[in-house]
Amino acid sequence: QETVYAIASGKGGVGKTTTTVNLGTALAGAGNRVVIVDVDLGMANLAGFVSLSPEDTTLHQVLAGEADVTEATYELADGIWAVPSGIELDSYASVKTENLRDVVTELREQFDYVLLDVGAGVSHETVLPLGLADAVVLVSTPEPASVQDAQKTCDLADRAGGTIAGLVLTRTRPSGDIDHEGIAEKLDVPLLVTIPEDPTVRESVYAGTPLVVHDPKSPASRAYRYLAARLVGEA
Ligand code: ADP
Ligand code: MG
Repeated sequence: QETVYAIASGKGGVGKTTTTVNLGTALAGAGNRVVIVDVDLGMANLAGFVSLSPEDTTLHQVLAGEADVTEATYELADGIWAVPSGIELDSYASVKTENLRDVVTELREQFDYVLLDVGAGVSHETVLPLGLADAVVLVSTPEPASVQDAQKTCDLADRAGGTIAGLVLTRTRPSGDIDHEGIAEKLDVPLLVTIPEDPTVRESVYAGTPLVVHDPKSPASRAYRYLAARLVGEA
C-alpha cells in the first residue's frame, strides 16, 4: 500500500495542483486521513485553491529549520489537511530542500495519504520528492509539448529511484483523433484516468473550493473520484 504520492509534471500549468487538491479531497471523502503538501517552493499556489491564507507558518519555515511541520499543517475539512508554502521570495532563500526528507517521514507516520504537489521542471527541489514518494502520479495534457516534458519527468523519477504509478491525462477533449492510451504507451506507464476539459474546474478555483466539493457531479469531479478509487485499489 502506497502512502506518499508525488504529483508531478514536466511542463507547468497542466493540472498538478488541481489534481493534488481534488485527489486529496476525494481520498478524504472516502474516509482517509490525507495531507496535501505544496512542494512547488518557488511558485507556491496550493493555498489559493483551498482558500487558505498562510500568513503564519509555512513549509518554507519548516525547511529552513525554524518550525516543526505540525505547525505548518492546517486542517481544511474533515479528513484533509494542507501544508502550504510561502509565497514570498524572501522566505525561499533560507530553505534547505534536503529537509524535505524528514518532513515526509514525519507526515507518513501521521496520515493515510501524503500528496506532494511538485514543481514543474528538472531542478533538485523537483527531483528530490520524486525519490521520496512511494509512487509518482504523472500529470500531462495531450499536447505534444506536455507529453514530451512528461517523458523527462519519467527519466528523472527513474534516476531518483522513484516508481511511476501512472499517467493522469488532463484537459482531454472528445475530439476522437487523439489516442489517449497511445500517449500512455509511448511514455510506457499505465493510463490511470483521463480528466476531461471542464469549465467547472475554473469555477471551483475562483470559489476557492475543491471541485469535487464545489460540483461533485461534474465530469472532472467524477474522473477525480475514479482516480482516488483506483489508487486505493477499488476501481
Ligand atoms: P499546475 O499545478 O500543473 O501548474 P493547475 O492545476 O494550476 O496546473 O492548472 C492550470 C490551469 O488549468 C488552471 O487555470 C486550471 O483551472 C486549469 N485546469 C486544470 N485542469 C482543468 C480541466 N480538467 N478543465 C479545465 N481547466 C483545467
Ligand atoms: Mg501548481
